[in-house]
Amino acid sequence: MTQTLPATRPVALAPDLTVGGRDVVLMLGPCSVESYAQTRAIAAVLAAHNLRVIRGGAFKPRTSPHSFQGLGEEGLKILRSVADEFGLLVVSEALGVEHVPLLAEYADIIQVGSRNMQHFPLLWAVGEAEKPVLLKRGFMSTVEEWLQAAEHIATRGNERIILCERGIRTFETATRNTLDVNAIALARQLAPWPVLGDPSHATGRRDLVLPASRSALAAGADGLLVEVHPDPPSALSDAEQAFPLEAVPELLSQARAIAAALGRGVR
Ligand code: PEP
Ligand code: MN
Repeated sequence: MTQTLPATRPVALAPDLTVGGRDVVLMLGPCSVESYAQTRAIAAVLAAHNLRVIRGGAFKPRTSPHSFQGLGEEGLKILRSVADEFGLLVVSEALGVEHVPLLAEYADIIQVGSRNMQHFPLLWAVGEAEKPVLLKRGFMSTVEEWLQAAEHIATRGNERIILCERGIRTFETATRNTLDVNAIALARQLAPWPVLGDPSHATGRRDLVLPASRSALAAGADGLLVEVHPDPPSALSDAEQAFPLEAVPELLSQARAIAAALGRGVR
């Protein structure tokens, strides 16, 4: 490692909401924003449980060009409008440098996805943006490469960085990826930035979202990024890992139990 900065530097998202502080922060939402009705249904449930952040994809990095590519700016408009209705913050992904101004306009946190972790011009662009950045770990990247990618953002002036472990590719094919809980604990020791766990992309299976969420929090994650859907089988992207909206109370209660064991609350 190039440097060792042990203390986590919390990232303030709102006057009363911080990632990397005492409480863990849950960021839930659809893999893709599909419609106003779908997104609003999710936002209503999040708000009913006092959750503060909705995460949804408008520009989607799809492996196949024949898959649903996201609603683009229309998706960002839907996210912003339902988030404002329910008093939520928005996380959404910029796929390229050209998306950064749009994300800065509509979102509160700009996500850089796994496939883009070493897209250096994008790192530089979000490093010059006025919004916090959620940096996912590349699925073939080492922890050192991940933290160096974060430093590319920080050296452009933006230190409001939130890391996210979303699973790495291993020899195991029974699950979509392998949740690297070591990396969650290690990144928190080595870097100053808070670290989230993403049990959805890490497992690729809705029936593993709860145990993987528990593991990530137990390893010290400062929060979770979880894909939820009101009708999982009909999801236009990542349907197999979509966690049912109706099961959000169970996710919350399990998250609260693990967080409490570590002296933390859940926001
Ligand atoms: C996503 O968050 O929907 C996504 C595409 O994730 P990742 O970049 O981790 O694959
Ligand atoms: Mn997804």
